[in-house]
Amino acid sequence: MFRRNRGAGPARSAEALRLDGVSKVYGSADNAVAALDNVSLSLPAGTFTAVMGPSGSGKSTLLQCAAGLDRPDSGTVTVDGAKMTGHGESGLAKFRRRRIGFIFQQYNLMPTLTVEQNTTLPLKLARRRINRARTREVLTHVGLGERLDHLPDQLSGGQRQRVAIARALVTEPSVIFADEPTGALDMRSARDVLRLLRESVQEHGRTVVMVTHDPVAASYADWVLFLADGRLAGDMYAPTVDAVAERLAHLGDTVAQGANGHHTHHADAHHLDAHTINVRTGD
Ligand code: ADP
Ligand code: MG
Repeated sequence: MFRRNRGAGPARSAEALRLDGVSKVYGSADNAVAALDNVSLSLPAGTFTAVMGPSGSGKSTLLQCAAGLDRPDSGTVTVDGAKMTGHGESGLAKFRRRRIGFIFQQYNLMPTLTVEQNTTLPLKLARRRINRARTREVLTHVGLGERLDHLPDQLSGGQRQRVAIARALVTEPSVIFADEPTGALDMRSARDVLRLLRESVQEHGRTVVMVTHDPVAASYADWVLFLADGRLAGDMYAPTVDAVAERLAHLGDTVAQGANGHHTHHADAHHLDAHTINVRTGD
């Protein structure tokens, strides 16, 4: 459906995101839930990854830990070669501002700020120079060049999410994380959002990690990571809608196999590495 890994930028071979043995447990003792169980992965810069899995499988936890919005109990997260672990609260916030963009299902725009002000807010918070021409260029790119002074509640859901995309793009982060970015949108707005994300990877070399439960959304990605019970349960390169839907339907089978021993899990981890190299070298 899409050309993948063409139009390479120089950053393409670099590792944008790395997780080593990341675990996260919620609750304690009796009611402890292992939301993430020893997850390791490596994503090259300039790739679009979808994360899928049943509800409660740890997708949001994975994204939050990888984006520095939550802290893993163990393991390390490395963004663009810099370790995220070991920062205090303000250090972590600084880290996030410099290297991470985040797109939420519910947009998370500031209701009293205009489209343009919302877009430049991360730059302001990071005390970075605001380049108005560049901001307007990004807003024009997402189709909001005529809406600079509108407030969020004067926009449709699709337009709000495009502001959120502009806000994530304007800081030129190492990785953009999106948790169900199309979950609240109609089909057409969802497609616009997915095209913009795809384009930012393909044409501008950004790295995007997107949680979705929608096989159509996942088909816009270069590859899909499947999660089940807080563990990686497989992956798929060059996903198609049908292949993703099929794999999701059988994800339970994979988990059942994995529960019988650790071999399946290791095999999957190995598989991931192979694909990582595949993505790294392009097509
Ligand atoms: P997903 O996004 O795949 O639906 P989550 O990452 O939200 O899954 O949740 C993974 C597991 O961790 C679930 O069992 C969920 O109930 C639990 N969980 C997530 N966040 C919290 C929290 N703040 N407190 C307690 N349990 C949580
Ligand atoms: Mg979730």
